[in-house]
Amino acid sequence: MSAERLVHALDLARRCDGSRPIEQCWIGHDAATALAAHIRALGAAEVLVTADENTRAATDDCVVRALRDAGVRCREKIHGAGPLDASDALGDETAAAAEGADAVVAVGAGTLCDLAKYAGDRLGLPAVLYATAASMNGYTSGITAIKVRGLKRTVPCRPAHAVFANPETVAAAPQRMAAAGLADFLSKCSASADWAAAHFLRDEYYDPNALQFYDGLVDRAVEVAPRVGQGDPEAVAFLLEALLLSGLSMLAAGSSSPASGGEHLISHYIDMKSSLYGAPHDLHGAQVGVATVHCLELWRRVTTLDPAQIDPDAIARAQPDDAIVRGWIDADWGAVADEVWAQWQRKARSRDTLRDEAARVQRELADLRARVQADLLPPEVVAQAIRDAGGPDRPEQLDAPLDTYADACARARFIRDRFTVLDLAAGLGIATAREHQPRRSR
Ligand SMILES: [Zn+2]
Repeated sequence: MSAERLVHALDLARRCDGSRPIEQCWIGHDAATALAAHIRALGAAEVLVTADENTRAATDDCVVRALRDAGVRCREKIHGAGPLDASDALGDETAAAAEGADAVVAVGAGTLCDLAKYAGDRLGLPAVLYATAASMNGYTSGITAIKVRGLKRTVPCRPAHAVFANPETVAAAPQRMAAAGLADFLSKCSASADWAAAHFLRDEYYDPNALQFYDGLVDRAVEVAPRVGQGDPEAVAFLLEALLLSGLSMLAAGSSSPASGGEHLISHYIDMKSSLYGAPHDLHGAQVGVATVHCLELWRRVTTLDPAQIDPDAIARAQPDDAIVRGWIDADWGAVADEVWAQWQRKARSRDTLRDEAARVQRELADLRARVQADLLPPEVVAQAIRDAGGPDRPEQLDAPLDTYADACARARFIRDRFTVLDLAAGLGIATAREHQPRRSR
């Protein structure tokens, strides 16, 4: 891949959504100098640089040095080396530290960059990111994953003004992070099929142009996975570029739908449980990868259904009553159950509608299959690629409770109004047994 492809993609994203442009994406050994030049070109005299002890050490503090060499004054907000959770409180703290500065610069991966984007958005300042790991696709996205009043959410925000990365730094990041990035990237296979199905069955907005950002990338990502696992700088640089393009596809679509479907709901469910009850959670991409394998299995079951076996009346009768679903949501979400219920209500359909939907799938299964076939990969292929990259592909390998993962597979569809294969499969009677065995939550 080449720098030209990124420049072209930026142009494309700008044309699709001119209101929220990203000015520059730059991967190169001179990334710190390029970042400083970008800040100078913005006319910024003083910036807040936020990092943690790990990312500052990993970059040998080159960003601050390059900025100072370029005559830019730097304030610093450096977090400790321990795990950091992006919360609105921490975002507000970052914004307070940046008050009066001309830009916010993050040196880090998901959490630090989300905090910088959040603070920049709040203050109306450009956020400029120095990516230190190919761990997720959020660098170029217009959303932040942030805990608001204790609950993890994805909140829309102004995207970063520019993103820079040194491939050597990125390749030296913990290997688990690159494996998570590969999995986050490959989640597109299931997510974009979900998106096409939402358009087909529920007439939701869909823009196939957003998928051109992925041309040729998925196969190549599978191919380079073993080299990502070995920390090969060229392979990890490719992965970072693929992740930046994936983020741009969401910007162009004006929605995370091209890269976030049922597998992301499963991961968000685990994160929400973790933020409410303090249970462990794993890296975003690690959770998403395991869930992608699950969703691709569901997709295989949907696309290989025999229409003669679909019984719309029986399916409609088997759908849980509102009271039952409300009971699950109350048990899962306690104090925030009303909010989750409101999300679900936007997507819930009557038994009659669900029967009609099942009947339509029965009649038009070949058409549905044709619309999603190009997106889907066999679950084994994705699982193998994640393993090749050194990441978890099975729930028992995640640093998250197995019970929570199983609950997530069955009930994550209730937490957000986005239609995904989790709804499609449940609507066709391909439900996980756990859905019908509500348990008390921890
Ligand atoms: Zn993701």
